[in-house]
Amino acid sequence: MVHNILGNTSGTLRDGADLNHYKLEVIHQGDESGNDMTVKYRLPSGLEIFGLPTMNFYGGHWDLGPTWNYAVMADKPFLVDSGRFGQGQKLVGMMDSVGIDPEDLEFVLISHSHEDHDGGLAELVKSTRLKVKAHAIYDLLIRKYPRKAPAGYKEDFPAKCWHCFMPESFYTRNCRDYHKVFQELEVDRLGDGKYSLGANIHTYHLPGHSPDCLAVLLGDEAIIVGDIVLPDITPWPTREAMYDEVADIIRADYTRPQAIFGLQRYIKSLKKLAEIARLHPDVLVLPAHRLYYNGRWNPIYLEDKVNELRQHHIQRCAAILDILSDGPMIADDIARHHFDPGLLEGLGSLMAANEVISHCELLIHSGDVVALEENKYAATGSTNFEADIHALRSDF
Ligand SMILES: [Zn+2]
Ligand SMILES: [Zn+2]
Repeated sequence: MVHNILGNTSGTLRDGADLNHYKLEVIHQGDESGNDMTVKYRLPSGLEIFGLPTMNFYGGHWDLGPTWNYAVMADKPFLVDSGRFGQGQKLVGMMDSVGIDPEDLEFVLISHSHEDHDGGLAELVKSTRLKVKAHAIYDLLIRKYPRKAPAGYKEDFPAKCWHCFMPESFYTRNCRDYHKVFQELEVDRLGDGKYSLGANIHTYHLPGHSPDCLAVLLGDEAIIVGDIVLPDITPWPTREAMYDEVADIIRADYTRPQAIFGLQRYIKSLKKLAEIARLHPDVLVLPAHRLYYNGRWNPIYLEDKVNELRQHHIQRCAAILDILSDGPMIADDIARHHFDPGLLEGLGSLMAANEVISHCELLIHSGDVVALEENKYAATGSTNFEADIHALRSDF
């Protein structure tokens, strides 16, 4: 699965704000995008965190930059994420180059089930015997369920990839081997809400970008956010309709799609992050992409960033309603009206339609849009969505 970068948001740098009380050491300077870079943060408590970015392969409009994996040298040291498929061994080499012996690590935590974060996992586990921790949904969705899968070629996909809209030309080249490697993995399941990983370290289950997204809060000093918030780019929201495909597998634990999928859920997760930001205003935010990109550092001010993302989605909902004021339309056509042609080239059109549908799902909850038939929408004339978005609250 690939994320999109539809809808760039500019970075928010506050004048005079300063996150430099965290000592950052560049151990190895990589390229402009951060590939091959290694860095070390030293937090006021003495906690050290290594940033170990591994290469991705998407380019052009798709480029996310490398995946920033982090080694947290807490009392029980651990790694967050494993890079994309083929990068597991590279990550072991990077750890070695900064003096980390994987034998000293207790576990690797997966921030969410996208390929650029868990693709290197099987290889990493094979060579290091690290234990794996991830949200319970991850453990369910990395398995294959041939009798429950959508009929056809997806019978051989893990459940987390059933919703993927990439064409055969993409998955045969990039995903075949990746799909095979999970079946033997043992995963230590982490729970919903706030979950303790040890002294003063907690995970937060913040779904929306993916149903199994976790953020890791390290005391009041740092938070590793995966793809939940990113500098420069707007994380892609899931669609609530994705629930239907995997309902047989997760219904026992989650009876409502909105509990783990969709834009509404994503915004609720952002609100939880805003709460955390208010409790820990100086928290260092460590994203999984673009910490360093285009030759510069991209600090995230968490509360500002959350407000900016919420505003971005409000504007996109408003734009979609405006387009629908001309009459009912299918998602592909709404996308053509809304996005710059450059963003719709190739696979971009699939991303754009997905983005439109997740916003329409939210607008349906607000009563501002009705679905006429498969992916065809009409405006009702009301504009409740903005008040509804402001009223959303995190669940825990
Ligand atoms: Zn992701
Ligand atoms: Zn990612």
